[in-house]
Amino acid sequence: MTFEEIIHQQYGIDEEVCRMGTLVEESLQNRFREIDEIRDFNQIKVLKAMQNAGLAERHLHGTTGYGYDDDGRDALDKIYADVFDTEDALVRSQIVCGTHAIALCYYGILRPGDEVVAVTGKPYDTFDNVIGFDGNSSSILAYGIKYRQVDLLPDGSPDYEGIAATVTENTKMAVIQRSRGYDYRESFTMAEIGKIIAAVKEASPDTIVMVDNCYGEFVDTTEPTNVGADIMAGSLIKNPGGGLAKTGGYIVGRKELVKLCAERLTVPGLGAHVGASIGNNRDMIQGFYMAPHITSESLKGAVFTSAVFERLGFETSPASDSLRSDIVQAIKFNDPAKLIKFCKAIQMAAPVDSFVSPEPWDMPGYNDPVIMAAGAFIQGSSIELSADGPIRPPYIAYMQGGLTYANVKLAALIAADQIIKEGN
Ligand SMILES: *Cc1c(COP(=O)(O)O)cnc(C)c1O
Repeated sequence: MTFEEIIHQQYGIDEEVCRMGTLVEESLQNRFREIDEIRDFNQIKVLKAMQNAGLAERHLHGTTGYGYDDDGRDALDKIYADVFDTEDALVRSQIVCGTHAIALCYYGILRPGDEVVAVTGKPYDTFDNVIGFDGNSSSILAYGIKYRQVDLLPDGSPDYEGIAATVTENTKMAVIQRSRGYDYRESFTMAEIGKIIAAVKEASPDTIVMVDNCYGEFVDTTEPTNVGADIMAGSLIKNPGGGLAKTGGYIVGRKELVKLCAERLTVPGLGAHVGASIGNNRDMIQGFYMAPHITSESLKGAVFTSAVFERLGFETSPASDSLRSDIVQAIKFNDPAKLIKFCKAIQMAAPVDSFVSPEPWDMPGYNDPVIMAAGAFIQGSSIELSADGPIRPPYIAYMQGGLTYANVKLAALIAADQIIKEGN
């Protein structure tokens, strides 16, 4: 039986839609080959780093208590530093999410009176409280740190003139966000990030450049730290956890900066020397080993989904043939019913909680109801297939992740089938 036949038989997807899926897939073979090349390159990079670090069976076990002399944890730090070409790394299950990893860079590096400039517009929503737009008393603003922002230009591109005019020698740190997050803009390529960093350094050579690398790891053969970033952070329940890390975050960069972040994560003086890995080393190490492959599966799924919905006449971002710098796929539905159908279909295709039907709800902190679909082995994991969107015009669904391409392919075709049927 072919893939077309089995999904028709098992999921009742219209034969016409199944056939379209096959045609779309055939049309993407060159694109998939490029993704495979990036995957293979990154796989060797990760493998070699594991060998360079002398990774051994004993590293896969963990420590308890203080976690002194946790060889596995230290080996993983070494492997991350090697892969991202940095002096040091801090990879920890005690970093509870991506926001925490990035916030550690703010709190670790900045001191009262310092200035930080967000040079790619307002950061991801979860930073509203960290920066303190709403007056949070634990925010960086509350600690007397100055915050400035250079918005993106109306077309979503970086405002180089604005950066040159805003960053001065008084700017302690400049912040770049690689991924689109939940903005309908392109994510920044490594060439663009290199150019943004050069613009910051030209305005002020000593300004530290920090990059939020969430969703970007292993999408390209280079990373922001290869094009001049001083420090970079991300989440282990996204790309670099490879779907196996159960929790955690990472920070990589210049040694003295990583040390400042470690002293903020734990306490001054102890820094990275403590923090028991308990049972997490194996998942974190094996997950990193799997990460280039898993990221490529997600990417192929995103490209396929983009191409399917383009064929159905929807605007997608990125388009199926454009260069990518993260694993996020946006589809503009211009219709609330179609957005809801799409998210329900993603849920239907999940390995976990497939019987649940997501509904839009009023989430704290959002002005419009939001619908979220996720059926993951790890709570909130967005390297696993998930989709969400606020119920407001133009009704955009943001989809990301997928541990296996075949599962994303199925999800996209269920969604296409349901949306076509609804239209009739
Ligand atoms: C996911 C993400 C984060 C961090 O989010 P967490 O949910 O805290 O892990 C930060 N920035 C961007 C752009 C992201 O996509």
